[in-house]
Amino acid sequence: MHVVVVGGGFGGIKAALELSRRNVGKITLISDEPHFLHHATLYSTATGKSYAESVIPLATIFARHPSVQVIQDRAVSLDEHRRLLICKKGQYKYDKLVLSLGSVTTFFGIPGMSQRAFGIKTLNDVKEFQNHIHDEVIEKKLDKEYFVIGAGPTGVELAASLNEYLKSLIHTYRIKGARSRVVLVEAAPRILPSLSKTASTKIHKQLQKQGVRVVVNHKVESLKDDGIIIEGKKHPTTTAVWTSGMANNPFFEKNKDIFQLTPTGYVHANDHLEALPNVYVIGDSNSVKHSGMAWPAFKQATHVAKQISRLAQGKHQRRFHSHSVPCGIPVGETWGYVEWHGVYLAGRTGFLARRYMELYGYSQLVSLRKAIPVWRAHYILEVDP
Ligand SMILES: Cc1cc2nc3c(=O)[nH]c(=O)nc-3n(C[C@H](O)[C@H](O)[C@H](O)COP(=O)(O)OP(=O)(O)OC[C@H]3O[C@@H](n4cnc5c(N)ncnc54)[C@H](O)[C@@H]3O)c2cc1C
Repeated sequence: MHVVVVGGGFGGIKAALELSRRNVGKITLISDEPHFLHHATLYSTATGKSYAESVIPLATIFARHPSVQVIQDRAVSLDEHRRLLICKKGQYKYDKLVLSLGSVTTFFGIPGMSQRAFGIKTLNDVKEFQNHIHDEVIEKKLDKEYFVIGAGPTGVELAASLNEYLKSLIHTYRIKGARSRVVLVEAAPRILPSLSKTASTKIHKQLQKQGVRVVVNHKVESLKDDGIIIEGKKHPTTTAVWTSGMANNPFFEKNKDIFQLTPTGYVHANDHLEALPNVYVIGDSNSVKHSGMAWPAFKQATHVAKQISRLAQGKHQRRFHSHSVPCGIPVGETWGYVEWHGVYLAGRTGFLARRYMELYGYSQLVSLRKAIPVWRAHYILEVDP
């Protein structure tokens, strides 16, 4: 059997690894980037920590999996009748196809946002943001407000980390009189609207205690070269980071005559996570409950690999059951919050629990021996700006 897996992220890699372990035949992993991006630590890499905790080459992950061939290419369309995946550079015949293409950033049409805001979704985003901070340090311009837009988990993590990073830069480079301030802006009435009220309240207080200014119930209206407009008022700044707004990978919208999409653009998949005969869609791209986080992508990938293996043995497929997963949010370098089924840990224990969740995540992709140095890279500072 030839299984083609598309996407070198959480879902795609896990699916290819599980298929390889089950000896289902030939596996081809196609991804448009040569590396895996560990999104959960990008906030930290963007604020001065090592790239090693966020970027792992695909060659390293698949070094001991000779049945997996890794190809760098970009999927463009699909001929489901001929079981042919059409990519930019080549075409690939498959018996089973697994698509785990992830999501992309959307700016909800806010004027100036896509052109001027920084982001931390891709490696390029992170590099651009770091270069910007580097320039600010050189020009000793750290005396101003830095806006983080969107108080979901990523916005909260970044705001706290950026606050600590700016303080450390001001101290290290002895920038006299600099009083930078991070402002976290959220349109909803509370931060972390998808988490419990306890999470919002505790994390809000902690952010304020650390010196982050939190503004809720305020909509950002536009972003200009010299300022951000919030509810009609202009605030001078040259740094706004957009962490809000996710949309499905545009591959599915471009192929909407083949796939059945929800009104928000996510792919309908059946109980076996199949969107079409022999085509599975997993991870952020499907409309399955709890999708949109890394662990559900792992679970869906493992399930699909098991079912493909069962089919190869002449057995029938089993249904996928979705479960909620813990959510962990670091707020600075020593404080964290982890919540699952109404039970939470906050403070130092919350931070440690979140750190162990990261180690668990790495160990799903590489052996524990390789995962530990990647995990510990969190304590390595990148080259000074
Ligand atoms: C900044 C940030 C922080 C996050 N923090 C957390 C967290 O703390 N905890 C958590 O559980 N989740 C977190 N998430 C969400 C989590 O990263 C996603 O849910 C997870 O990545 C989904 O896995 P996936 O396989 O669907 O997509 P991804 O991991 O994004 O993988 C998609 C892959 O497909 C490739 N690709 C895309 N289009 C094509 C194409 N046309 N052809 C070929 N290859 C293509 C991409 O390059 C990428 O390698 C975070 C997300 C972001 C952006």
